[in-house]
Amino acid sequence: MQITSDVYALDSTARSYAYLVLGPEPTLIDTSLPGSSAKILEEMREIGLEPSQLKHIVLTHHDVDHIGSASALRDATGATLWASQLDLPYILGERRRPGVKRLAEMLVKVPTPMIDKTYDDEGGSLPLEVIPTPGHTPGHAAFLYRDILFAGDLVTSKGMMLRPAPNMLTWDHTVLKASLRAVGTRQFEWVCPAHGQPIRRGQLWNQFV
Ligand SMILES: [Zn+2]
Repeated sequence: MQITSDVYALDSTARSYAYLVLGPEPTLIDTSLPGSSAKILEEMREIGLEPSQLKHIVLTHHDVDHIGSASALRDATGATLWASQLDLPYILGERRRPGVKRLAEMLVKVPTPMIDKTYDDEGGSLPLEVIPTPGHTPGHAAFLYRDILFAGDLVTSKGMMLRPAPNMLTWDHTVLKASLRAVGTRQFEWVCPAHGQPIRRGQLWNQFV
């Protein structure tokens, strides 16, 4: 699904969306569930991007439905794989995920990816602006590109509604609220969540301010 001239939601990942931004440094936002890489690569080619042209893969957070195909896609494309420092121990399997996510981590086997760079050190060199949005996880990041917010699991959409990701999957509610408020001060027209369809911002963010 094309959202704007150079931004796509990858239809093959609709259960946990990965997004593709073209431009001089093509960037993939999130990698969906394990086993999604072949479909993602095929969809990239259909859009007109050869896998070897992908420059960056950025992860919004450590959940298995976002980092699932990171290792395979890094191998297949040679792109630089990015994550936040605070989510790194979970991504690398050095720390167990809390609560119900522990169950997900046992049920869904994720090949551990090699992380090349962190936002904390070098995020300023990315073609998207990194917005730290802790709450859902300690190191959750959203990304701004022109008038689009890539929200990860900061919010989900359903119909014409926007909501925070479910409470029981939230690491810290107070921190999440502060992130939602802070993002509300930024300019963007589109909200692209991992779960639910891309949606126009309109007045929808006012509930979080
Ligand atoms: Zn998710």
